[in-house]
Amino acid sequence: MKKFIITANWKLNGNNSIINYYIENLKNYFNENKLFNKIIFVPPVIYINSIKNSIKKKNFFLGAQNVDINLSGAFTGEISATMLKDIGVKYVIIGHSERRKFHYENNDCIAKKFKILQENGITPILCIGENLKEKKNEKTELILKKQIEIIFNIVGRQAFQNAIIAYEPIWAIGTGENAKIQYVEKIHKFIKEYVMNNSNLNPKEIKVQYGGSVNENNIQQFFASDHIDGVLVGNSILIYKNFIKMIKYTNFLK
Ligand code: PEP
Repeated sequence: MKKFIITANWKLNGNNSIINYYIENLKNYFNENKLFNKIIFVPPVIYINSIKNSIKKKNFFLGAQNVDINLSGAFTGEISATMLKDIGVKYVIIGHSERRKFHYENNDCIAKKFKILQENGITPILCIGENLKEKKNEKTELILKKQIEIIFNIVGRQAFQNAIIAYEPIWAIGTGENAKIQYVEKIHKFIKEYVMNNSNLNPKEIKVQYGGSVNENNIQQFFASDHIDGVLVGNSILIYKNFIKMIKYTNFLK
C-alpha cells in the first residue's frame, strides 16, 4: 500500500492575511479528517514558520520552492539547505521550468541543488519536462534522459532512493490543458525504467508525480493510475475549497 503524494506549489502568491485564512480552513479540515495521502505544502518561504506552528498533522509536510547551491557566505538573497532544515522544511522543489526559464537555471546547477539538499537530509522534488517544440519533434525522451542523467553523474547511482521526480511537461503548466493520462503513463513508465536501469532501485522505490494543470475535476484519473505516485499542483490549490476537494478525492491508500 502506498500513499498518493500531492505537492501544492503556491508559487509567488498571497500575503499574510490570505495565507492565514487559507491555513485556518485547512486546519479545520485536518481537525476533522485523517490524512491517508501525503501532502507537501510549498508556500513562499517567509510563510513556512507560521504554517509550521499552526498545522501539526501526520502526513502533512512543508516544502520550499528553491534553495541555493551554497551553505553560507556572501551570496546575497539566497537561502541555504541548512536554513531550510532549521525551520522544518522536508522537501524542496528544484528544476521547475519557471526557474529554468526566468532564472536561467541549467541542469548542472539543478544537480548541485539536488546534491546539497540530500546531503542535508532534505528530499528534492526534481521537476523535469519537455516544451511543446521538443514534444512535436519527438525529443521528449532525450530531454528527460539528459535532465536525469546529470543527477546520476553528480550525485551517484542511489540519487533517486530519496527523491521525488515531478514530470511536468512545460506545455501543460498553467495552461489549463493537462496532458492526457495515456501520455503521462507512457512517460512515467519511461522515467521509471530509465532510473531503474541506472540504479539498483525497484519501481516501487522510484516516485514520479505528474504536474501540469491538475485540478479538482481531473485529479481522480491521475490517482487511479498505477504508474502515477502523485501530482504537483500550482494554480488550482490557491482556492482552499478546491485543494480540500483534491485531498478528499485522493485520501485513500493506493
Ligand atoms: C506547477 O507549478 O508546477 C504547476 C504544475 O502549475 P499548474 O498546476 O498551475 O499547471
